[in-house]
Amino acid sequence: MTRVLGPGGKLTSLERTVLWHAAQGLTTAATARALSRSVPAVQDARHRLLGKLNAASLTHAVHLAGMAGLIGQYPDCGDRAAYLRHLRRRDDPCLACRAANARHEADRRAGRLSTNPKGQAA
Ligand SMILES: [Zn+2]
Repeated sequence: MTRVLGPGGKLTSLERTVLWHAAQGLTTAATARALSRSVPAVQDARHRLLGKLNAASLTHAVHLAGMAGLIGQYPDCGDRAAYLRHLRRRDDPCLACRAANARHEADRRAGRLSTNPKGQAA
């Protein structure tokens, strides 16, 4: 699979959620309302995720993220916590969450996890 994440690195939870809403066809204003965020906050997240995905537009970003399996079943899919939530709900983890869990397992095996892994409250 083509690596689509650019030098900006992994998407944050907010960036993934904003991308998910874009993939559902929501406007910036509608996304801001859905997430109880300001319009500029959503615009900033969109700008950052375009850079991280090396995308020319939001449509391009949604396409690239879809091809890479970064857009999940739920708005906040795509990290280890969301993977575990699928398991608690006894539903089949989506592709984005399976990929996040695989990255987590690879990091764990390589000893790259901090003492307070992401997805757990501090
Ligand atoms: Zn998921």
